[in-house]
Amino acid sequence: MKRSLTILLLLLLAAMVLLSGCTDIRTNEPVNPASPPAPDPLKVHFIDVGQGDAILIQTPVGQNMLVDAGENIYGSRVIEYLEAQGVERLDVVVASHTHSDHIGGMDAVIDHFPVGAIYMPEITQNTKSFRDVLISVQRAGLTVTSAKAGVTVPLDGVECRLLAPVKEYYQELNDYSVVVRLAFGRHAFLLTGDAGNIPESDILGTKADLQATVLKVGHHGSYSSSSTRFLNAVGARYGVIMLGKDNDYGYPHDSALQRLNRTGMQIYRTDQNGSIVFSTDGQDLQISTER
Ligand SMILES: [Zn+2]
Repeated sequence: MKRSLTILLLLLLAAMVLLSGCTDIRTNEPVNPASPPAPDPLKVHFIDVGQGDAILIQTPVGQNMLVDAGENIYGSRVIEYLEAQGVERLDVVVASHTHSDHIGGMDAVIDHFPVGAIYMPEITQNTKSFRDVLISVQRAGLTVTSAKAGVTVPLDGVECRLLAPVKEYYQELNDYSVVVRLAFGRHAFLLTGDAGNIPESDILGTKADLQATVLKVGHHGSYSSSSTRFLNAVGARYGVIMLGKDNDYGYPHDSALQRLNRTGMQIYRTDQNGSIVFSTDGQDLQISTER
């Protein structure tokens, strides 16, 4: 009698544990085991901000990360774009480097959204754009985390590693660019800021895994980035060049385009395609473009 009561209690306890495990943490609604909801994909948005970079990453569990925010005049456009994607908070913000085509709109973004953490390379620049970002960072009560090779950005369910800057000193400010590798299932995204040939070679020297399905092409398609050795190591199937129509720099440069085309990768350009969104469940990859 006593033994059967114990068994009954154990069974009850097991049922309670099982039932409590059957709720979706986000909604607290019971999950119907017959039709489990499709998990959200990882989305990487290359936002058209003319001549500049702004990249939004939305993880399957609803975390948001922003890498760069375009020129000053695009701050409000980035905010609008993020709001249209349902962003209410940025868990991580990365400033690839201090040039205004990457951090110009970042002060407005930090003023607008709650931010969890901000990563920047250890380089300062005496420009209004950069000072404005630092003022916004301070106002938000944030402490800048130093971005460098080997740093892991804590995201749930998505691996996010920083592959650069590798060295502490570079002659060119662009070469301090933070390089981000996001990996999810079978796919990875490599975001290279404006890093040129020298940091590309430094990254190769670290033996870090830099294979990626999608490469954000370095420095808006400048001749000084995208060395063949680097492109071969990445082995990307898709390349995204972020640049403005009729820009003052003649981007993308022919020599870089030739090297990119030689790899056989398919190229998307924000000046031609507008904003470009990659979406993956870790297996399949979907691409949608504004134009
Ligand atoms: Zn740039």
